[in-house]
Amino acid sequence: MKRIYLDHNATTPVYPEIFKAMEPFLKDNWGNPSSIHWAAREPRKAVDSAREQVAGLFGCQPNEVVFTSSGSEGNNFAIKGIANSKKSKGNHIITTVVEHPSVLNTCKYLSREGFDVTFLPVNSQGMIDLSQLKDSITDRTILITIMFANNETGTIFPVDEIGSIAGEKGVVFHCDAVQAAGKLPLDVDKLNVDILSISGHKLYAPKGVGAVYVKRGVRLTPLIHGGHHERNRRAGTENVAGIAALGKACEVALRDMEKETSHILGLRDKLHRGLVERIDHIRLNGHPEKRLPTTLNVSFEYIEGESILLNLDMKGVAASSGSACTSGSLEPSHVLTSMGLPPETAHGSVRFSFGKSNTDEDVDYVLEILPPIVERLRSMSPLYAKGQTLNR
Ligand SMILES: *Cc1c(COP(=O)(O)O)cnc(C)c1O
Repeated sequence: MKRIYLDHNATTPVYPEIFKAMEPFLKDNWGNPSSIHWAAREPRKAVDSAREQVAGLFGCQPNEVVFTSSGSEGNNFAIKGIANSKKSKGNHIITTVVEHPSVLNTCKYLSREGFDVTFLPVNSQGMIDLSQLKDSITDRTILITIMFANNETGTIFPVDEIGSIAGEKGVVFHCDAVQAAGKLPLDVDKLNVDILSISGHKLYAPKGVGAVYVKRGVRLTPLIHGGHHERNRRAGTENVAGIAALGKACEVALRDMEKETSHILGLRDKLHRGLVERIDHIRLNGHPEKRLPTTLNVSFEYIEGESILLNLDMKGVAASSGSACTSGSLEPSHVLTSMGLPPETAHGSVRFSFGKSNTDEDVDYVLEILPPIVERLRSMSPLYAKGQTLNR
């Protein structure tokens, strides 16, 4: 059977070039980079050069890069780290309703611990209102944490403008750039960010490694206390192989970004156009233009996204309903409902997310098999029969 992977926002395969970069540290170069003897030399060099490669993607100094175990850890580190280090100055945090659970639930946790959190709403395209952001800043505000691009819809936030607003008010700005890394330029100076997190496995490196940019002078209380690793910012013997892979992934991302983006964007738009031509009552979720080149989230009215996904899976196509983290739950996506989608429409959503290895043939195949699936599911749907009567 064909196997087509259209779920790159959930995770990406490890790219061969990146696997090669990590392999020596799973085999011969197994030393602890903190040791002072021969076994440490190669692993330490690998961590140092990976730090330079990540700094290259961020446009920052290598000593502003902290390695973590994941995007989730990076987000926790940033948010709890600022909350802890600045709690004497204030207790107000600003975020949005559409953040990844690793930001949303960290903020909810802090609100139970006595912090005051503003969750900015979004409009029907998943966009926040910058004047509302400005108005919600008070002299108690210590942190603004807003994602670069949404994992479910791909909507891209105006990070540079958010950064300027935060900067003018002297508020620390953290950006969850996990979905943007490798797809959009991440120049931290131009973006006016103080802290920014990325994750390896969304960027063709393996799971279990991530990095955070922490601007020089920004003080964060560590999440993990222990040894002096990462200049006392994150204890734990380094995941050398993962770090080497992440470094390589950042180098590859910088090198290939332009080429990959136009390839992927072409496929995404071809699928969208093809679906609109072949299927009625579908709705694009997310911003029509300011959207990740990888991401196409559409609602098929009157039917369940989950049923579509099961049928696609039987034909070898991997896609997702919103986010990997909420699948398995019967709740509609918090991102889509907060954009004002009725729960039925949110339930009917499917996210196709593209990556490096997808081809025109992949899109042709989906366009061949998906319309009959939708037609069959709708023919069994009482909602569809009712909707048709009402529309007549
Ligand atoms: C995947 C993802 C994360 C979490 O990264 P992990 O490495 O899986 O913990 C955080 N934010 C966004 C936007 C993501 O897509």
